[in-house]
Parts: sequence; structure tokens; C-alpha cells
Amino acid sequence: MNRFAAPVTVRAAAKINLHLGVGAPREDGFHPLTTVYQAVGLCDDVTAHPDADLTVSVTTTDWVDAAAIPVDGANLAHRAAVLLGRHHDRDLTGRLEVEKAIPVAGGLAGGSADAAAALVALDRLHDLGTSDDALLALAAELGSDVPFALLGGTALGVGRGELVEPVADVGTWWWVIVPSRVGLSTPEVYRHFDRMFPNASPEPPDADQLLSALLTGQPVSLARTLHNDLQEPAIDLRPELGDLIDLGEAEGALRGMVSGSGPSVVFLCESADHARDLAGALMRTGQDVVLVANGAVAGAHVVPSHV
Ligand code: ATP
Repeated sequence: MNRFAAPVTVRAAAKINLHLGVGAPREDGFHPLTTVYQAVGLCDDVTAHPDADLTVSVTTTDWVDAAAIPVDGANLAHRAAVLLGRHHDRDLTGRLEVEKAIPVAGGLAGGSADAAAALVALDRLHDLGTSDDALLALAAELGSDVPFALLGGTALGVGRGELVEPVADVGTWWWVIVPSRVGLSTPEVYRHFDRMFPNASPEPPDADQLLSALLTGQPVSLARTLHNDLQEPAIDLRPELGDLIDLGEAEGALRGMVSGSGPSVVFLCESADHARDLAGALMRTGQDVVLVANGAVAGAHVVPSHV
């Protein structure tokens, strides 16, 4: 490694599932999904600095629970580094600095974003020239949402969500995101889905209506077609999420929805102004963290490092 190589910073976005259709568990235990992901403007940055060892450190914004993030080999950025190294038959080193703004265990795929960002940052730091196809395959090994974190934009995901392809999306969509201070375990929500829906079809519900709504560019049309099969189990585990959705809709959101497996709740709005108004209204009701973000934004990409 060139000890004098410049650090590389890669930004990766949170995701919202505009459609999350879940089928009965497959033989390998994974649930088959038909999902439409959208990358939104709430991002983590991963900076890879040249170093003789592989280490991870994490800094967080106010609403992110730093204590819930491992800084050892369990960190998804670290796991990404090991996997990328294995792909190239070498031990990759680097000091990975993760700056997190995406809530942990929030249903926004923050860990997946960090894994995708680490793959790209280390590929560039070490000038590995990994092909896009190889990066996507490594991403799929790291987690179902990681390939989408590389791709960004708006995309259809099938399989367990790891098989992604971009879809046509003509809108600019404005979201209010209300994270929760306490995360919700994704496997726990899936287990609860199985308890609540023991007769779920093996085929997840398709996303055709939502894909048509994306082509209208009209928030009202998109609002009608948002769909999340994990919403009921998430609300059953955390009834206050249902109350929050009702509150946001009463305050004028076009539609409120649990994001992925939760517990973050997202509200679709008409416009940037509408989103800011709704965010203000929700803060006045006592929500301590309310964020505004738009989509779709880019997947993991290099940004000029902070000097
Ligand atoms: P998804 O929507 O993909 O299920 P999530 O947003 O609910 O993901 P994450 O924030 O990705 O959940 O974190 C899930 C778990 O992964 C956390 O409990 C945490 O301990 C672990 N983890 C490992 N690496 C990271 C990381 N870099 N950032 C956040 N969590 C991480």
C-alpha cells in the first residue's frame, strides 16, 4: 500500500422501501421479497485512511445511538474490508472512519450503507479496480440491502432483496423521517411476521401499481400505492408506531408508513415546503427528532475528503 495515498471518503444513503412485499420463508430461512427501494438524502460517510492495520472508528450525530454500533470485526464496514480483501487474495488494511447520520437498527439500512461505502472506499484507496459485478456480488454476501446501497436511485429488489435493477422514476419525492431512539431488530420483525401470517403466500405481492405511480411523478398517486408487509408486525411489536402514523397523517402527510422493518416512520409529502411544515408540526407535538429528506439520491459515491 502507498502510505502516502490520500484518504478516500465515500457517501452512502439510507433507503426507504416504497413497496415491501414479503412471502413465506424459503427453505434457507430467508423471506422472498419483491421490494422497491429508494435512496434518500440521509447519509453516512466512510473515510478510508491508509494505515498498516484494519480498524474502524465511529462518530455519530445526536440522534444516532453510538453504543449500538460495534467497532470490531462485527462492524459491517470491517466485514466489507475483509471480504473485499479475500476477493483479491490479500489482507486489506486501512483506518475506516464511519460518520453516521443514519439511525441504527432503524429500518433505513444504515449498516448496509456503511458496508457499501467501505467496499468502494477501500477499492479506491488500494486502487483495486474491482468490477461493478464483483462489487455487487460481494455486497450481496454482506447483506440483502447492500447491493442497493451501491446502486442507489430507485430500484426493484427481488430474491431476498439482493437482486437489484434500477426502475424508471420521474418524481422528486419529499419525505419526513421520524427515527426512534430505540432500534427494532429486523430478524425479530420477520419472526413476528411469520407468527401473524402463518399462511403467507410463497410469492410476495408484486409492485406493479407502485411502479406505475413512480411514472406519474405525482405524490398523491405514489401515496396510494405505498405498501409494507412488515408494517403490521412492527406496529404489533411497537403500538406507538401506529399512533405516530395516525398523528402525521392528521397533521397533513399524504401517507405515513413504517420504513422497512421499522421503527423509523416515514411520511410522504407534496413538496419540500409541505415536508418542512409537517416536520415543524411533528416537532411541536413533542417528537424529539424529525428529519426531512428527498429521494431519489445516488448510491455509494466518492466525495471530496474533508481537509
Ligand atoms: P435493515 O433496514 O437493513 O434491516 P437497519 O437499519 O434496521 O437495517 P442497521 O442500522 O443496519 O439496521 O443495523 C443492524 C445491526 O447491525 C445493528 O444492531 C448493529 O449492531 C449492527 N451493525 C454492524 N455494523 C454496523 C454499522 N456500521 N452501522 C450500524 N449498525 C451496524
